Amino acid sequence: MALSSDPESAPDPLPGASGYAEIDLGAIRANVASLKERAGDAALMAVVKADGYGHGAVPSARAALAGGADWLGVAQLSEAVAVRAAGATAPMLTWLYVPGADLGSAVLADIDLGISSVAALDELLRATTRQGKTARIHLKVDTGLARNGAYGSDWTALVAATARAAAEGAVAVVGVFSHFAYADAPDHPTVRSQQQTFEAAVAELERTGIRPQVRHLANSAATLTNPSAAYDMVRPGLAVYGLSPIPDLGTPADYGLREAMRLISHVALVKDVPAGQGVSYGHTYVTDRATRLALVPLGYADGLPRNASNAGPMLHRGVRQTIAGRVCMDQVVLDLGPDADVAPGDPVVLFGRGEDGEPTAQDWATATGTISYEIVTRVSSRLPRVYVGEGR
Ligand SMILES: *Cc1c(COP(=O)(O)O)cnc(C)c1O
Repeated sequence: MALSSDPESAPDPLPGASGYAEIDLGAIRANVASLKERAGDAALMAVVKADGYGHGAVPSARAALAGGADWLGVAQLSEAVAVRAAGATAPMLTWLYVPGADLGSAVLADIDLGISSVAALDELLRATTRQGKTARIHLKVDTGLARNGAYGSDWTALVAATARAAAEGAVAVVGVFSHFAYADAPDHPTVRSQQQTFEAAVAELERTGIRPQVRHLANSAATLTNPSAAYDMVRPGLAVYGLSPIPDLGTPADYGLREAMRLISHVALVKDVPAGQGVSYGHTYVTDRATRLALVPLGYADGLPRNASNAGPMLHRGVRQTIAGRVCMDQVVLDLGPDADVAPGDPVVLFGRGEDGEPTAQDWATATGTISYEIVTRVSSRLPRVYVGEGR
């Protein structure tokens, strides 16, 4: 069954499923190619953390590499190990872990480690002394986000400790990096000042004789708006998946990007109810006329925000609908109106590219007071991912 009235639209690949996320790997591949063009001479690290922002880390990594990504980046060590184990041989960086994490196995798997403190460096050295393999590291400097990274005099201490470890051959300093607080507000004064702090921190490191191969600072928003922040490598995540990190300034299309995820469900049940019928928990929606309801079997356990109650948009048979009443764990209800043309099994599109009138992930973010990052990353593992497109 076609998903919309558009004869060009693809057939429904999982007609019996409560719901699924269709991932267009061709879009990921094309988005990376487009971002790479923007980055000029800089290399590109595709960030595939959080299961590829909900799109699947391994397929997303493959599609990104097919699009020209030079590096892969993840937050957690376990994510890096999983992507490596799946066969990705590209250089890979992981930057967030706690004391006791198995840094030695990361080094053995040729995974680069972000180092934010002398304590983390010391822990890495203890792990690698046992193994006798040089660890590849990227020093992280906190240039004003006040999150991860070494700040102020801690940076000076980290540089000194790293220079000693590098001289002994225990570590190779492959990169130096930082992260913006306001990349989504390109004219914010912190953008300029963070870049200046970054450049001063790099200079301090280079005075020890260490010349890192990649200096990197730009996330998606900076990659799209601030060429001066590209340095040797850009590090986009959200834009890889075709979403705009700065929705107030531009749509994905404005930035040459295509949304890769489409979230689809099927009507489970249709019923007629009288006027004055409260719908779903707490009866926060009450029918104002005799009407026809459709049950859509996706809920907050599938990743719909609960505050999409009476707000979340969907497309059914070419018409935009809004969730009637509360989002439950497994299901929501639509009020389609009296005599609505609807049958159990009908596809319902929660979000996609918007080209056939369906909402976008950004529409869901706007309707629920959040950002598109959260809408796609929260799509739960209960929903199968169906991969389409040329990115494999
Ligand atoms: C998540 C993350 C990125 C990617 O950010 P986007 O805004 O999704 O492009 C880049 N660098 C670091 C350190 C991150 O944590």
